[in-house]
Amino acid sequence: MMNHNECQHPSTKSERAKCRRQRAKFDGALAAVIAESVTIEAPAPAFVSIDVTAENWREHKESPVVLFTRIDDDTEAPIAEGVKITGWGKRWVNYQTADGKTKRTAVTCLGARTVEG
Ligand SMILES: [Zn+2]
Repeated sequence: MMNHNECQHPSTKSERAKCRRQRAKFDGALAAVIAESVTIEAPAPAFVSIDVTAENWREHKESPVVLFTRIDDDTEAPIAEGVKITGWGKRWVNYQTADGKTKRTAVTCLGARTVEG
């Protein structure tokens, strides 16, 4: 039973019922505030692309990458984006496109970096 000993309202059935509803409402609001304060999610970390090379490609073979030709220090010509590298040999890089096709491109002047999946 709820205790109305410290209440100011008249000790009638309807006043006690009103009091119970107000307390329940307050408890609900308080619970909601507590729930809200503990479920604040950390913002998603910003995506950082990683340069993929002949040495580290195996660590990134599950990550979509962009392959590009380095034309000069400031210019890149994209070859394929959102593909996954399946092999990095002396002459060719093999990769799989999003629709499952296997392709290859020459290693010469090739650059690769991960893209947001
Ligand atoms: Zn009361």
